[in-house]
Parts: sequence; C-alpha cells; structure tokens
Amino acid sequence: VGIFEDRSNSYSPNIEIESQWLPFSEDVKRFTTQQWLAQPFINGEAIADLPGHAVKAPHDNRITVGEAKFANAELVDKAISVAQEGYTNWSATPVRTRAGALRKLADLLEDNLAELCAICHMEAGKTIQDAIDEVREAVDFCRYYANQAEQHCSHPISLSQLEGANTLWQRQGRGVFVCISPWNFPLAIFLGQISAALAAGNSVIAKPAEQTSLIASRAAELIFEAGVPGNAFCLLPGDGAGVGAPLTSDPRISGVAFTGSTETAQLINRALAKRDTDPVPFIAETGGQNAMIVDSTALPEQVIKDAVLSGFASAGQRCSALRILCVQEDIAERIIELLKGAMAEQVVGDPRLHSTDVGPVIDKEAQAGLLAHIDKMKASTNFIAQSPLPADCEHGTFVAPTAFEIQSIAELGREQFGPIVHLLRYKASQLDKLIDDINATGYGLTLGIHSRNERTASHIESRIRVGNCYINRNQIGAAVGVQPFGGQGLSGTGPKAGGPHYLMRYTQLTPAQETR
Ligand code: GLU
Repeated sequence: VGIFEDRSNSYSPNIEIESQWLPFSEDVKRFTTQQWLAQPFINGEAIADLPGHAVKAPHDNRITVGEAKFANAELVDKAISVAQEGYTNWSATPVRTRAGALRKLADLLEDNLAELCAICHMEAGKTIQDAIDEVREAVDFCRYYANQAEQHCSHPISLSQLEGANTLWQRQGRGVFVCISPWNFPLAIFLGQISAALAAGNSVIAKPAEQTSLIASRAAELIFEAGVPGNAFCLLPGDGAGVGAPLTSDPRISGVAFTGSTETAQLINRALAKRDTDPVPFIAETGGQNAMIVDSTALPEQVIKDAVLSGFASAGQRCSALRILCVQEDIAERIIELLKGAMAEQVVGDPRLHSTDVGPVIDKEAQAGLLAHIDKMKASTNFIAQSPLPADCEHGTFVAPTAFEIQSIAELGREQFGPIVHLLRYKASQLDKLIDDINATGYGLTLGIHSRNERTASHIESRIRVGNCYINRNQIGAAVGVQPFGGQGLSGTGPKAGGPHYLMRYTQLTPAQETR
C-alpha cells in the first residue's frame, strides 16, 4: 500500500528482458517467433485461394505475426448454404455428443495454452495475465454451456394441464446462428458465443474481428479437431462491409450474437429489421461509460488498487473498464495523490514481459482516437497524471494510462475504449444527482462502489441502472457461471454471458409430443 504514497522511495529494478520469462513463458516464447495464417473455413475446408495481408504485432509493427485472408460476399453465400445443411444434422445430434465436442474443445484449449497465449500477445497485444485469463475464460465458456445444454436441451419439458393432459416441450436450436465477436476478447468471447450456439444445436457462422482473425483461425482448427462437423461451423474472417453486412442481411440466418461497439450493434439491428423475413433474436453486448462511486468512508488504498486495475488493465480495452471515477470531495485530494503515485508505477510496454502492466492498444486507428481525446482533454480540463511510456515504443501502438479531472459527466461524449480515467468530485448531498447523471449516459454496464457504509452502497445499488455492480473490489473480469455479464440500455440487449439464461436465447421451444 505504501508504494502508492511515497514514490520518491520506490524504484524499478532494471531487470534484463530474458530473465523476466518464467518457466511457463518459455513455451510461450518459442511460439512467439512463429507465424500464423487466417483463412475462411467452409465445410471444414480452408479457402486458401484469396488475397492475404500481413498481420503486424501491435507492440512492434516491424514484426509480422502472420497473414490474414478475408472472405467475401460470395463466400458468405456459400457458407450460409453449407450451414443450413449442417443444421439438419447437428440439431439432430444427441445433446450429449454436442456437449462432448465442446468439452473436448475445452481440453484442447488447455493443451494448446502456450500457443494460444503467444497469439494473444502477438496479435492482440495482451499481457501475460490477460492472455492466460483469455484462454481460461474460453475454456470456462465451453464447459459451462456444454453443461447448460445437457441440463436444458436433453429432455423434453413436461407441463401438466388441468384436465389431466400433459404437454411436452423440447428445447432446440433455431437454425444458422451468426456470431460476430470483438478483438478485445478474441478467444473468450469468440468461443463463448460459438459454444453457446453450438451446444444449443444451431449451426454457426462466425465472423471474428478483422484485427484478430489469426487466433480465430487457430481456434477453428481446434473446433474441428474436437469433433464439430465442418458444415456445423464455418469461419469467415473479414471486415464489417465485406462479411458482416452480407451475413446479417441474409434472409436465411436465424439469429445473431454480437459483441462490440454500440454503433455497430445499431447497424446490425437496422440490417436485421430491413430483412423482409421472420424477425430473429439479436443478442448484443456493447459498450459502457462505466463509473466507480467512492464515498468518504472508502479505504483510499483499496480504491486506488481497484481503480487502477479497472481503468488501465488490458489497456482499458474492456467494455467493463472504469471510465469515470466519482470521488466524494472530502477524500478527493487524497485519492488524487495516491492515483498519481500508482500511475507513476504502471509499466507500459512489451506485453510478453512479466514486468508489463499495460500493453499496446489494438491498432493505429484506436491509438489515434485515444491520443486525440487526450489532447482535447488536456486543453479543456485539469490534467492529473500520465504513466511513463518506455523509451523505445515508437514502433508500437502504445497509449500511456492517463487521468483527468472533469467537472461533469456531460463533458465526456462517447466511450473512449482505452486507458483513460476521468475523475469527478461530488458532494455527499449530490449523490442522487450523480447517480441520475450516470444513468443519463444511457449506458448501463458496470458500476463500482467503494464505501464501508452498507446503507450508502445499497442505496446506490438500488438506484443505478447497470448490468453488473461491484462493491469494494475492481469492476472487471466477470467470472463465467458466477458473475453473469452484460448490461442494459446502450450497453446491450442481454441475456448475460456466462449466466443461466444465456443459452436459452439461442434456442426455441417446440412441441415434442402430446399425450393423453
Ligand atoms: N467480461 C469482461 C469483463 O468482465 C468484459 C467483456 C468485454 O469487454 O466485452 O471484464
């Protein structure tokens, strides 16, 4: 705790890069010199005859990590026909077999942990902790939805009627489900959507984020190795215009799961609405303008630990991440002092090193947008602190963790998806107004509360409109199966990922048989 208070006594030991690799990392390190290939998979076959482009490491754009070949509208059409056929067989495959394939996939992910972590470092700029957590969460999703499918889809549901008749209902898949996933969780959310859709008996067409198609392609190979037939799962790497748009406007699809920006969710929603066919489920998990409310009874050192983790871990590239740190004015000076100290200690740099807290942001476009926001805020608000950048970082897309003090939430505008925290002082008498202002952003994803006054915490909790509320801890990293994750309003449609109702949205209830 003391290290946040007295920076003049702290130092960063100058450890040689080589010695920072721990034993597990030796395996990862071997893989980081490898190159990977992303390509579409339709009917289990890789489509190689396509133009490709080089994929560069976000932390050092001189390093080529692999080559990505993107699908096009013609391949979208083909994949949908194949997946339609695949649905017939996959939906008739016993639930136990489908669940078994997902459990096998989970085992394969664990067997390939080092390689998958290496791709996370090299393609997505993930730190060691984030890479391990990424694979862990993907494994958890596969096992969780396999269990859920067995629990809910294996046996018909019997409902008794008053006159003594029974009705039987069977939960089953809906058809071809489209899964569009983000680059910030390129394996966990990618496989979370896919495993739920497959477990429920749908065939799947997945469009991973264009920035992270290498790991998606490697995961596709593992999906087939686990026993999922090539026509039940197709992979279409590509961008929104080339793949996403033709996929979501096609009348033959039966549902869409999407995680990404609110703006893209709105585009997809419009595309689905324009189709002249049956309305289909749309599951959208989108952005947030997440606050943490800290009252004067909070423990300052704990606040700083949790605010720094929530705001800057994963370079702030989580939709759950902290953006607005609301501090009761009585302890604001103390919090700012500690925050400055903690930020000076944040190590930004090569995501493959154990000493690194914050890796690069995903690409140049993201970096430029964040730097523009920082410039704008520097000109118009009070600057609090910025973490140091490493000396040799000009080849990577780094953004130093930065904190500003703002006067009102209205100054903020749209979500900034990076390591930037905005501090706002509030008076105790204005707590309700603060809660209303947070609600008025229209987002509703995560909220952190730091207070040792239980009445205050439960008052905030009851008035705030968010999906996930975290008290006296950090507000990121919802755990599958115990912390279902997802928001409301501009933050998404629900159901919450990793929760007991998620799988249901991928299913329909059909009459199984009627007995008298
Ligand atoms: N589930 C993640 C968390 O709790 C965030 C997911 C996202 O960024 O889309 O931190």
